[in-house]
Amino acid sequence: MKFAHLAEGGGIALTERAEPTAGPGEVVVRLAACGVCGTDLEKLRGRYRTAGILGHEPVGRVDALGAGVTGLARGDRVFVHHHVACGACEICRRGDPTFCPTYSKTNLDPGGFSEAFRVPEENVRRGAILPLDATVSWDVGALLEPAGCVLTALHRLGGTPPASVWVLGLGPVGLLYARLARELGATWIGGSEIAPLRRAVAERGGIDVTVDPREDGAVERAVARATDGRGVDLAVVATGHPAVVRAATRIVRRGGTVNLFGLPEAGSRLDADLQDLYLRGVRIIPSYATTEPDIAEVHRRVVAGTLSIADLVTHRVPLARVDEAFRLAGRPDEAVKVVVTGPAN
Ligand SMILES: [Zn+2]
Ligand SMILES: [Zn+2]
Repeated sequence: MKFAHLAEGGGIALTERAEPTAGPGEVVVRLAACGVCGTDLEKLRGRYRTAGILGHEPVGRVDALGAGVTGLARGDRVFVHHHVACGACEICRRGDPTFCPTYSKTNLDPGGFSEAFRVPEENVRRGAILPLDATVSWDVGALLEPAGCVLTALHRLGGTPPASVWVLGLGPVGLLYARLARELGATWIGGSEIAPLRRAVAERGGIDVTVDPREDGAVERAVARATDGRGVDLAVVATGHPAVVRAATRIVRRGGTVNLFGLPEAGSRLDADLQDLYLRGVRIIPSYATTEPDIAEVHRRVVAGTLSIADLVTHRVPLARVDEAFRLAGRPDEAVKVVVTGPAN
């Protein structure tokens, strides 16, 4: 079978290897679809400080069950979560499972951009395989992980759910963020984005106002107009650009929250007036990754029909042309979410 991975000298390579087999407690899944995430692109650019496994938003069909696996059958349509928390350590018990030391040690073998992949025993045991409802398409299934990350972020903020929200960066996760913030009760949502295609998708999807952030003062004006000069309850940094974090701190209200959601570039620094942040009580809350309950909640909301996200997938590219999928995903003027398709699709 073929699988995609980081090439030695940079770029992405498609290599032939033996099909994985399911050991005790493990499951092998045949790929239907896997989204290209911004972090996959960062890994390709060498700017992400983690192991180089590509593809973590996969859906597919159960192909083989190891000894002792129950509740699944060959051919079942499933979503698979690549990371699972231990659920037992102090960090898990205190409610921060995505920061569990073992969380990011679990992963799919050899990754989500593979004709088939092995789900480790601990992932299977801790509920990382979610059967998809018959009404949920492969495309939407491939959005469950990033949408779960958004829901986890919204849950991490605590307090009263935000009524006014500004999203900085309307890529796939920024757009998902806007949809889920609305789903949880936000009454006014705006967003800034350079690419006209993504602003158009945002406006069709119900965002109240979008602006091009290169237009001087446009974001501040839009926020001031909508909030009587107070600022928004929540500003979401859905890009990795460090300057955007400071911009976000300036548009939140007193006591408001900045959610650091996009992966910041390694080594980037926050240049902000700390006294201003202190006196205005601005909270900066990072959120990384997601959990089984949040993914299941997104799935329930999609099945219930209150959350609609299918339109965010603009391109489907077969695994054999994975390099083209990555090129497209890196072009905000051409694509929103790019999904790599596999043999089970
Ligand atoms: Zn991702
Ligand atoms: Zn833990």
